[in-house]
Amino acid sequence: MDNIIRAISADGFVSIAAVSSRGLTERAREIHNASPVAAAAIGRVMAATSILGSAIKKDGASVTVRIHGGGPLGSIIAVSDCDGNVRCCAGNPEVELPLRTDGKLDVGRAVGTNGMLTVIRDDGENEPYTGGVALVSGEIAEDFTSYFHTSEQVPTAVALGVLVDRDRTVRAAGGYVVSLLPGAPENLIDAVEQNVAETGAVTNILDGGGAEDLINSVMRGLEPRILSTESVEYRCYCSRERVAGALAGIGREEVDDILKKGETVEVTCRFCDEIYNFSPEEIKNLNLEVDNGQMV
Ligand SMILES: [Zn+2]
Repeated sequence: MDNIIRAISADGFVSIAAVSSRGLTERAREIHNASPVAAAAIGRVMAATSILGSAIKKDGASVTVRIHGGGPLGSIIAVSDCDGNVRCCAGNPEVELPLRTDGKLDVGRAVGTNGMLTVIRDDGENEPYTGGVALVSGEIAEDFTSYFHTSEQVPTAVALGVLVDRDRTVRAAGGYVVSLLPGAPENLIDAVEQNVAETGAVTNILDGGGAEDLINSVMRGLEPRILSTESVEYRCYCSRERVAGALAGIGREEVDDILKKGETVEVTCRFCDEIYNFSPEEIKNLNLEVDNGQMV
């Protein structure tokens, strides 16, 4: 089962959140019929977004991550609730690219490097807070590392990975964010850096292991204390009402067109495989309400 585990070193200077997200990444792959390189890209983004979202812990709060890199995969959007349950979509999830010369999926090329990583934190009450950085490599983990350095100004290492099997299903997925708190001694920074290097690719550990194995590796010698363990899943919050709200905003010409054709309008949620049907009559009424609303 997918989960996020948070831990802190015995001296309190090093905190880590690790996620094992094979199930939710496989669910995203199914929904979007994602190619291996697309599954790798969205899986990495969802792992990081889930960690960011679960850190908020406030009912109704959410974190949205947008990555526009100009690559053939198109823009990626991932949204996490305050418990780390996440959903995502991408512009062109069926994109196929040749492997890199080292045999790895070419996530950087699929995503592109000409653009931004944007993080929107919404606590559900106040104006959402938006931060962003220019993309470094499009490989996602490096881009999030840059985000933490720039926007949160804490030394942070981010590792993310997705292992796609020969049958194109997701075999392992997840990652971690490890941060040094202010005042951390220099030798501790070196120790964490060494642990990160020795841990290597997260999928080596997650293929057969879990989030706790990532923590034990990255926090080796630091006597980590587990603070929380929570299960996470792919979760969409779409509803007929929300879709109706979006349909209520379409133009008068489009409404006329729908009425003329007289066919049921089928709307598929962009984050999941839910389909909502609206009759021409319903669409007309939705837009009448909006027109009336605007007149008042
Ligand atoms: Zn949905």
